Amino acid sequence: MCFLFVILIVIVIEVMVFLMILLHPEIIITMDHDARVLKNYWIGIENGEITYIGREKPAGGEEVIELPNRIIIPGLIDSHTHVAMTLLRGLKDDADLMDWLQNYILPMEMRLKPDDVYYGALYGIGELISSGVTTFMDMYYHEIEIAKAVVDSGVRAVLSWGSADVFFQRSPEEEFKIAKRFEQDLNALKRNKGAEDRLFYAYGPHSPYGCTRELLELFKDKSNETGTRIHIHLAETESEFKDIREKTGKTPIEYLDSIGFLSDKVMAAHVVWVAEKEFSILRERGVHVLHNPISNLKLASGIAPIPKMLENGINVALATDGPASNNRLDMFREMHVAAIIHKGFTRDPKTVPAKTVLEMATIRAAKALGLDKYIGSIEVGKKADLVVLNLRNGTQGTPLHDPYSMIVYSLDKSFVESVMINGEWVYFNGEYTKIDIEETRERVQNIRERLMREAGIT
Ligand SMILES: [Zn+2]
Repeated sequence: MCFLFVILIVIVIEVMVFLMILLHPEIIITMDHDARVLKNYWIGIENGEITYIGREKPAGGEEVIELPNRIIIPGLIDSHTHVAMTLLRGLKDDADLMDWLQNYILPMEMRLKPDDVYYGALYGIGELISSGVTTFMDMYYHEIEIAKAVVDSGVRAVLSWGSADVFFQRSPEEEFKIAKRFEQDLNALKRNKGAEDRLFYAYGPHSPYGCTRELLELFKDKSNETGTRIHIHLAETESEFKDIREKTGKTPIEYLDSIGFLSDKVMAAHVVWVAEKEFSILRERGVHVLHNPISNLKLASGIAPIPKMLENGINVALATDGPASNNRLDMFREMHVAAIIHKGFTRDPKTVPAKTVLEMATIRAAKALGLDKYIGSIEVGKKADLVVLNLRNGTQGTPLHDPYSMIVYSLDKSFVESVMINGEWVYFNGEYTKIDIEETRERVQNIRERLMREAGIT
């Protein structure tokens, strides 16, 4: 009996190991090194990885899915957000930044409980997934709750604790310890939950104005020592530009460079206020820029000089920023705005073309996050993070001339039919497989009512 049981176990394990999913879409946009666009090819997936791309249908395949009129693209990457801020979306729009922050956002954030952050994050992740996002990078507090929501939803994420000794009036050492504690908690969680390949850590010093020089130097030194990447807001607004110049005699970028902070481990969100001489600093240090065009427009921060960054060979990734300042977690809308805003500003229709924008949401973002070995393109050996777009979900899917142009200028998130992360369907034919979105919606609504009551905001 015992022997037979062992044989049975071995057979089950073999089947699990060799279970192959085969997808046969009309078009695959690989975003690989040669930018291949493949027609009528097969993709084979085993153990969460892409193991086959070819014209011939391979042998095997326990799950074979024919996908006519569908395009498969690599999972989109939202390189900068504060996902749990779904709870504060639309709380006070069309207001000055300081009024918005001090009188509305901060009083609410002070009252957020760990559970609130979990459900706010889960709801936001649901929104990200339905717009084709398979990886996001986040910065917030109660960040371990966001990590739990990442584990439960099946998504992939780089998470950082928002460190700001100036805002919280703590010593740099104390603030750094909190970030380290989160790193340890995150490592324990990913080991316990088997989420090693879906959870990643980055330092998160909030900004040059939210952190003292001592704290920035602590993160820089530790990053040099350990190779840990650094996620920071940089040169977002004119007031930051002026404040830092007043305090240090330098612009925000010059200031960080003067303390040796800038390197190819730095992932800087916004970078709107850039002086001409600073493009070469960003390029030479290898800084990755995370571009948030909608948030920058809505909060009236300005328009980041992305065409000049691209001309200078600076790596640019695309991002939504938090849902309180966007107000959506929708990478299709972000791609559209990124593709048109710089054309209007430079009056050059050739600038920031559609293909470059899709790169900024896939392979360039993967490079920014230091994950391009695993994600960002459809290639054998990479993780199976895939988005299926059904071109029959609306009139804009026909006729198809140029798939890059169609995705960026014509389609929207309603064309996202299914999303696979790590070889697992997390969204299939428009339905979530891991998130109970109705229950989460109700919880978010209840949290909102409680916060409003407690904060006395009417
Ligand atoms: Zn931000």
